Amino acid sequence: MVRRFREHGLMLFLDGELYHAFSKLQADKCLGRSFAGLRAFTEGIYRLGYISERSYQAHVEKYEVPLFEEESKPSPKELPKCDFCGKYPVVSVVKEKVLGIEKKCCGYHAENLRAHPKWEKVS
Ligand SMILES: [Zn+2]
Repeated sequence: MVRRFREHGLMLFLDGELYHAFSKLQADKCLGRSFAGLRAFTEGIYRLGYISERSYQAHVEKYEVPLFEEESKPSPKELPKCDFCGKYPVVSVVKEKVLGIEKKCCGYHAENLRAHPKWEKVS
């Protein structure tokens, strides 16, 4: 008769550096404590050569399950920037009258170019 294997608990006492790194891993991957621990353990035991590539991949897939899906929100990098100074937010678009070049602009530049002879407001 083959006994079914039951999972074993393992208590670890981490020093400050490892605990801090573990906390970062947990936050970066949005994992619960157990899954973050199992994910780190899987990585280490694989690198030490004690599990196969296939087993490693299966365990990564099993434990790298985020607690929740973060809503995608635009990062500041994805928001349009003022074409003159690079600041946020863009409040207006202006056009150079002769060449017709349009540029996005922040509040400061929208105000500065409002009465400028070379530029006109588009939106
Ligand atoms: Zn600007």
